[in-house]
Amino acid sequence: MWDGLDKLIELQQLDLTIAKLDAEARAIPGAIGALEGRLSEAREAFEAAKRRSDQLQKDRRAKERELEEAAQGAKKKQARLFEIKTNEEYSAVLKEIEALKVKSSQLETEVLEWMEAADVTARAVAEAERVFRAAQRDVEAERREKEVRLAALQKELAGLEAARKGQASRLDGELLRMYARLMKSRDVAVVPVADGSCQGCGMTLTPQTYAEVKRNDRMFTCPSCNRILYFPG
Ligand SMILES: [Zn+2]
Repeated sequence: MWDGLDKLIELQQLDLTIAKLDAEARAIPGAIGALEGRLSEAREAFEAAKRRSDQLQKDRRAKERELEEAAQGAKKKQARLFEIKTNEEYSAVLKEIEALKVKSSQLETEVLEWMEAADVTARAVAEAERVFRAAQRDVEAERREKEVRLAALQKELAGLEAARKGQASRLDGELLRMYARLMKSRDVAVVPVADGSCQGCGMTLTPQTYAEVKRNDRMFTCPSCNRILYFPG
């Protein structure tokens, strides 16, 4: 095996593992943000339902006051009937009482309707609250899980970075630079050959090149993708 091949493969293994774990770690803050977004949506829905319910209660109370006033008005007028001297005034007040009674009965119907609406709204509020509390629990648990995972990843990455540094120092500078260029442009720098072709790009090698690569006794690069080739044995 040519000098440096096994160290290079080991370095690449470290780099690929680092890249994978690093991508996972980088995705975690965004995932936590998305969880919080879900939670605030549920919170907003709950608060909107509460506001609707409060407004409905206010409106209902206003109707009840109106109803109360109409009933009081009719009562007062009813009492006045006994003090009235003229027939015209008497029938005028009677008419007013009649009108207030009609108004009261309309208001009673409205109050009943508001009460039914309040029942529906109270159920909607309870449901929105249930959804919000469940989201709170889920998000809290998921967030903790992600934070624990992130801390573990950061620890593992620190160890891998140290190992990577040590491994890189064992390689020849020229080879290391070539490797770094390939990693940058091709993501993978060292690839095996199999069935007569480069496993990085799929190019078929000449039988002669393939036979030489299989010996692993000097460095070969793929004529198509420039990656360093080796035979996995
Ligand atoms: Zn290739």
